[in-house]
Amino acid sequence: MRISYHPADDLDEMVREVIKKAGMSYIDPDRVLCFRSRGSRSKRVIARCYSLPKIWQMGLNTSAHYIIEVIAERFDRLPHEEKVKVVIHELLHIPKAFGGGLRPHRGYVTNRAVNEIFSRLKSQ
Ligand SMILES: [Zn+2]
Repeated sequence: MRISYHPADDLDEMVREVIKKAGMSYIDPDRVLCFRSRGSRSKRVIARCYSLPKIWQMGLNTSAHYIIEVIAERFDRLPHEEKVKVVIHELLHIPKAFGGGLRPHRGYVTNRAVNEIFSRLKSQ
């Protein structure tokens, strides 16, 4: 099966909500694009975050953008709360500079950080 990508409006909304409620004001939601993919061969990945590196920004004469891709076969069957956690996880990969880089898991994108933000969201 070939992989296909579909714009994910439901995720756009979730991303906006998380950014707002979690105080991630360094992220421009208009430059975070969400897609749902189908037919991915990877067995364990639920979602991915892509950046547009500086050199591409320069070459294409555009600013930093990020893409969050969720793998439909796995993401869509998660309960709502787990979906929110996945979105938080992917957003944590976006650095404060919002410049085109990605933050690594170690020290930044941890279950602890995700759960902390998630409980902050829930208490609102
Ligand atoms: Zn990750």
